[in-house]
Formats: sequence, C-alpha cells, structure tokens
Amino acid sequence: MRTAIRDFARSEVLPGAAARDASGEFPAQLVERLAELDAMGIAVPRAYGGLGQSTRLQLAAIEEVAAADAALASIYTAHYLAMEVLLVGADEAQKLRHLPGMAEGQRLGAFALTEPGAGSDIGSMEATAQISAAGWLLKGSKTFISNAREAGLLLVFAKTNPTLGFRGISCFAVDRASPNLSFSTPQDKCGLRSSPTYTVFLDGVEVAADGLIGTVGGGGKIALEALNRARIDSAAMACGIAARALELASSYALSRQQFGHPISEFQVIQLGLGEMQALLQVSRLAAREAARLKDQGADLREAASIAKYVAAENCFRVVDRALQIHGGAGFMRESEIERLYRDCRVLRIYEGTSEIQLLTIASQVLRRADGVA
Ligand SMILES: Cc1cc2nc3c(=O)[nH]c(=O)nc-3n(C[C@H](O)[C@H](O)[C@H](O)COP(=O)(O)OP(=O)(O)OC[C@H]3O[C@@H](n4cnc5c(N)ncnc54)[C@H](O)[C@@H]3O)c2cc1C
Repeated sequence: MRTAIRDFARSEVLPGAAARDASGEFPAQLVERLAELDAMGIAVPRAYGGLGQSTRLQLAAIEEVAAADAALASIYTAHYLAMEVLLVGADEAQKLRHLPGMAEGQRLGAFALTEPGAGSDIGSMEATAQISAAGWLLKGSKTFISNAREAGLLLVFAKTNPTLGFRGISCFAVDRASPNLSFSTPQDKCGLRSSPTYTVFLDGVEVAADGLIGTVGGGGKIALEALNRARIDSAAMACGIAARALELASSYALSRQQFGHPISEFQVIQLGLGEMQALLQVSRLAAREAARLKDQGADLREAASIAKYVAAENCFRVVDRALQIHGGAGFMRESEIERLYRDCRVLRIYEGTSEIQLLTIASQVLRRADGVA
C-alpha cells in the first residue's frame, strides 16, 4: 500500500503542488483519488468502513502524501482528526452512521474547536449549545477550521454550561448542509495554501438530540483524546516534509558547483546532511513508538506529545538547513524548498503548539516524580 500511495503522490500530487500553492485551489480530485486508493480510513476498524490496518501504515501514507504536497497532507490529517473524535467519543449507532462514509472517503471531516478568543485554552471558548425542541441549538463562531466548507460532517465543540470551563464543553456532529451554518472565505495563509481554513459561523444551528457525541460536559475530554491520537499523524506529516527537504538538499548539493567542486564535497554540507537524516529518523521513531502505543490501547499522551514536538521542531530545522544548502536559489518563489519552508512552519503551532506539547510532557514527568504515575 505504501508503494501505491508513493506512486500516486509522486506522479499525481507532486507535479501540481506548486500551481495549487499559487492558486490556493482545493484539490478535490486528489482527495477523491485518495478514496479510490482506500486511503481515507486506513486505521479505522473494518466494522466502521475502514481498512482496519495499523496506525503505522496510516503514518506511512500520510508521510508519502506530505512529501509531495503538505497542503494535501493537512486536508488528509484534518479528516483523520475528525474521525478520531467519533472513534473516541461516539456511541455504536453514531459510529455506524457517520464513520463508514468518512472512512470510505465519500464525506470529508472537519474538527471545529478553536475560536478567535480560545486557542490553547479551550476552556475559555464562548460558543454555546442550548437545549431546544429539536435537540440542541448552537451559537457562536469557530476559526482556523480546516476543511470546514468542503466537509460533509463537522465535529463542533460548544459550551452546554457556559459557567464552567473545560467541563462545560460538549461535542456535536453537525451536518455541513445544516441551516444557519455558514463560512468565511478561505483565510489567506503563509503556507498550506490549498488546504483552506475558515471562520465558521453558528447562527442558531439545530442539531438533533442524537447529534451529541459523548456526554454533556464530556466534549473537552473527547477533544483532547482525539488530538492526542491525531498528533501522531501531524508527526508523520512533518516527517514527509523533512524527507522531501533532505532529498532536495542532497540532489542540489551533488549538482551545485562552487570553487571548482560540487558543494557535496565540502564537509560542512555533509555534516548538515548527516544531521538532517539523524533528525528525520529520530522523528520517525518517535512517531512509530506513539503509533505502537495507540494500537495497543495504551496511554499515549506523553508519547504523542513527544512525537509531535520532536517531529515538528526537527522538520523546521531540516527544512531550514535544506534551504541554506540551496543558497539564494532556495529563497526564490520558484524553488520547491521555499514552499516547504512556508508549509512546515504551522506544524509547530497547530494541533497543540510546541509549548503546549512540552507542558503536557512536563506534567507526566512531574506526576512520575510525585509518585502519582
Ligand atoms: C493552518 C491552520 C489550520 C488549523 N486547523 C484547525 C482545525 O481544523 N480545527 C481547529 O479547531 N483549529 C485549527 N487550527 C487552530 C490551531 O489548533 C491553533 O492555532 C493552536 O491550537 C494555537 O492556538 P492559538 O492560535 O489561539 O494560539 P494561542 O493559544 O493564543 O498561543 C499563542 C502563543 O502562546 C503560547 N501559549 C499559550 N498558552 C501557553 C501556556 N499555558 N504556556 C506557555 N505558552 C503558552 C503558545 O504556545 C503560542 O506560542 C488551525 C490553525 C492553523 C494555523
């Protein structure tokens, strides 16, 4: 399967990536092709329409896609994040209703947590869900939501008890076609330009009673658990971008001549390439370890945060070094490494910033030191 995804990524995704970066066009046809390749629900159980394969295989697919086009990988990982919400929080009937269409790729998913005033601190969100005759009435707004307009289903978090913080949050499955649900135009971004993000407006959106995912007040926990599981996918995306940067840097070093030699003969360039490969492999190992724990059903909070932190930070270092090896050519819009430089930056911010990952890791370190865990 990895070979099939790599062939697809290299022959169908990579050639148009620069043009999509320039136009910002959503790659609907490539998302359809991922569905044709059975790649939209790789680690989702067969009972819910997925392939029932390992998370490690899912990581391999994400890495291959990211190496060709990080924006497509971001659309892809946001879809997996939405499915994680259902896998973590939904009851059996809800899983059977929503997951097969998503895992088979007929419906894209979106995860709507962030608000203009609530990013890392999700307990401060202001969107509300009030009990109504039909079930629930959602009001408020969300921002930076990937796939929101293209998705068939949005997993939306809102306060059922605005007087509480984290414990006041509940989670809802919202159909994209719901009345009073609307979207901004795509937000203009530094990178991942063909992976659109939107502000989502909830102007009294009715959700049926069975659209509540999990318990009233249990949404914050569902969001964090889903994010923990999906952070491994972000790590794989970072590995894909870093792998491509290393490939570009090595071939440039072999072909670029200065002082009468290919620059690959200069030891400082070789040291750079060696470090890049070491950083990439460490990131892959960290992601695989978190994937192993996830598939075992073990507590993966610390491992997922380590994987996300290490892979995102290492990716940025690898891409920066790769750009340096390209010299001035790497700074030009026409070079692929320039796109990778812009695309990789967000990995240190979304799905929990690097600082939030370190705080999560530190809390586990302190629990152990305190004899709690
Ligand atoms: C391209 C893109 C796509 C996105 N897609 C989605 C999506 O699909 N769904 C979704 O819900 N959200 C999405 N987001 C939002 C993303 O998850 C948030 O941007 C991220 O969680 C950080 O929140 P914030 O931007 O509000 O930053 P803030 O939380 O305001 O943080 C600002 C800075 O303060 C630091 N900081 C905050 N709290 C602490 C603390 N306690 N200690 C130390 N430092 C701290 C942060 O690390 C950061 O450096 C997306 C964002 C981007 C850019």
